[in-house]
Amino acid sequence: MSDCIFCRIVSREIPATEVGRTDDAVAFRDLDPKAPTHVLVVPVRHVNAVRDATGPEGEKLLGRVFAFAATLATELGLDADGYRLVTNTGRHGGQSVDHLHVHLLGGRQLEWPPG
Ligand code: 5GP
Ligand code: ZN
Repeated sequence: MSDCIFCRIVSREIPATEVGRTDDAVAFRDLDPKAPTHVLVVPVRHVNAVRDATGPEGEKLLGRVFAFAATLATELGLDADGYRLVTNTGRHGGQSVDHLHVHLLGGRQLEWPPG
């Protein structure tokens, strides 16, 4: 989608600090980090949100995005102290970009429950 900011990051039309890329997903640093490590993992294919990743293809996509996020967490040295993977969905979820993304947050103690 040409008007989607994350599609434009995926196609490198808009610059971002990439930390990894597979055939299915791209990971890049969040512009406004909420933790010492704050990476966004997004599918290459435009999907609005997790609720739209339906059917066998959607399930495969979610599996690959989460598995990639876990691999990146290991590479970024987050395994020992832990980290959080979260995907905000819709208005109550606090989603501000309508292209599915998993936040990988780590490097400090995160609080629970979220605000
Ligand atoms: P959401 O609020 O939808 O869960 O997360 C969207 C995230 O995307 C936010 O944390 C925000 O800082 C980040 N973001 C928005 N626009 C850009 C951008 O152009 N580049 C990067 N790297 N991150 C962005
Ligand atoms: Zn998109």
